[in-house]
Amino acid sequence: MGRSNIIMSIYKIQCLTTDDFYIGSTNNFTRRRYEHRNRYNCNTKNSNDKLYDFMRLNGGLDNFEFSILEEDISINKRLVEQKYINELKPTLNAIKSYATEEDKRLSLCKNSTRYRLKYPDKVKEYDKEYKKKEYDCECGKTIKVFKKARHERTKNHINNTSTLILPLPLDASPSPSQSQ
Ligand SMILES: [Zn+2]
Repeated sequence: MGRSNIIMSIYKIQCLTTDDFYIGSTNNFTRRRYEHRNRYNCNTKNSNDKLYDFMRLNGGLDNFEFSILEEDISINKRLVEQKYINELKPTLNAIKSYATEEDKRLSLCKNSTRYRLKYPDKVKEYDKEYKKKEYDCECGKTIKVFKKARHERTKNHINNTSTLILPLPLDASPSPSQSQ
């Protein structure tokens, strides 16, 4: 049971001269702090650009304090991190993907055979909603999303969009003498 000694930490990086801060999570705070310093020092692109750019413009690393908000051996760091992000609303985190990842996972689930067999009613409801979704096609018609592929092969759609793609012939440019 060696894994049970891993301590999950939710930490904060607070700017000492403004109210701005960042919330992160890690299973090794010492290493993570070192990584932050490292990434601050090398100018490579990464997911925390917002944080490092802000640090560079606001006094550098020395003007930021690292602290642990919560640590435990058993916390689900991503969930708890998200809880802190939702509650404290850090200004230096890039928009977190956890919620959207969760949505993606759910929608993937809904399309899986196992989910469909297990929750037929939920799936029916979900499909019903999906079938109602519409979009305004570039051809000028309002089309059901699930019929998009079929619609784009119709003559009506092709005829009404191909003219938009073709460049105008030179002599077709609008001019006052175009009366004939
Ligand atoms: Zn169309």
